[in-house]
Amino acid sequence: MSPALVLLLLFVSIIVLSTVFLVMHANHDCIGVECHICVIIKNVKSMLEHMGKTLATAVLSGTLLLAVMISFARSSFVILPSTLLNEEVKLNI
Ligand SMILES: [Zn+2]
Repeated sequence: MSPALVLLLLFVSIIVLSTVFLVMHANHDCIGVECHICVIIKNVKSMLEHMGKTLATAVLSGTLLLAVMISFARSSFVILPSTLLNEEVKLNI
C-alpha cells in the first residue's frame, strides 16, 4: 500500500469519525461553561474546518501543478513551421 493511499485513508477516517462524534454528542447533557464535551465539539469543528481548507489547498495545488506540467509538455512538443527566418537563409541579392 502506497504512503499516499495510507494518508488518504487516514484523512478520510479522521473526517468520518469526527463527524460521527459530532452527531452522537450533538444533544448531550450540557453542564454549561465547564462542559468538556462542548470543548471537544468546538475543537473537532475547528479541526474539520482546517482539514477542509488543507484539502482544498491540496486539490488546488495539485490541479495547478498538473496544468503547468501539461502546458510544459505540450509546449516542448510544438513543431514550429519552417520559414526562411527560422532556417536563417541568407538571400543573395
Ligand atoms: Zn456541553
